[in-house]
Amino acid sequence: MEAGQDVIGTKTAAITSSCSCCGHADLRLRRVLWPALIQEWELAPAEAAYIDRQQGLMCARCGSNLRTMALAHALLTHFDYAGVFSDFVVSPAAASLAVLEVNEAGMLTTFLKRLPRHTLIRYPESDMTKLAFADRSFDVVVHSDTLEHVPDPIAGLRECRRVLQARGICAYTVPIVVDRLTRSRKGLPPSYHGTPANPGDHLVHTEYGADAWKDPLLAGFAECRIIAREYPAGQALVAVRRD
Ligand SMILES: [Zn+2]
Repeated sequence: MEAGQDVIGTKTAAITSSCSCCGHADLRLRRVLWPALIQEWELAPAEAAYIDRQQGLMCARCGSNLRTMALAHALLTHFDYAGVFSDFVVSPAAASLAVLEVNEAGMLTTFLKRLPRHTLIRYPESDMTKLAFADRSFDVVVHSDTLEHVPDPIAGLRECRRVLQARGICAYTVPIVVDRLTRSRKGLPPSYHGTPANPGDHLVHTEYGADAWKDPLLAGFAECRIIAREYPAGQALVAVRRD
């Protein structure tokens, strides 16, 4: 898809021209979806094009893709930081933040690791629905394209909320097909992300749509914001715990 092309009747606003993580301006698009996945997901050509852009538009310097940039952008927006993510993580504003990363959030791990109070846990040693941390341990929980693989995503988000302090946030991405509603793949043939050669543990339980905001509210969060780095290809959700 070329920058500015129509996406289901909607002009793509604010095309990403530089990396939110490192600031580099050389971004390269490669196709990542394969025909069987497009078919299982029942994506129209324009939908496949923007999901490809979300997963396959990469920074030539740091390797972040658009979904990683969207997550970085959401955190920068939430913390009102006017700069790139590589500067944010070493800033005084970020030094006190206790951050839990659930599975490597794409290339964002490289940057999050520079935070003095960063904790990374991984599936299958750690399960998002049973986190081994005390209540209110963190200021931020981050995950990227993980929730759609959790059999009970609301239970996963409820756990994320439990380990957050008041005013803490869960910032995450899931692939969102913006013109349809969320559906469970229960009863449908199995569909995997990952790669065709190595589907691994990436069985998809939930295909998120326009109502992706409901799950964090059902899990007890007070607020869910959708922050766009680029619509519709690059969005992240920020769920806020009130008290
Ligand atoms: Zn970069």
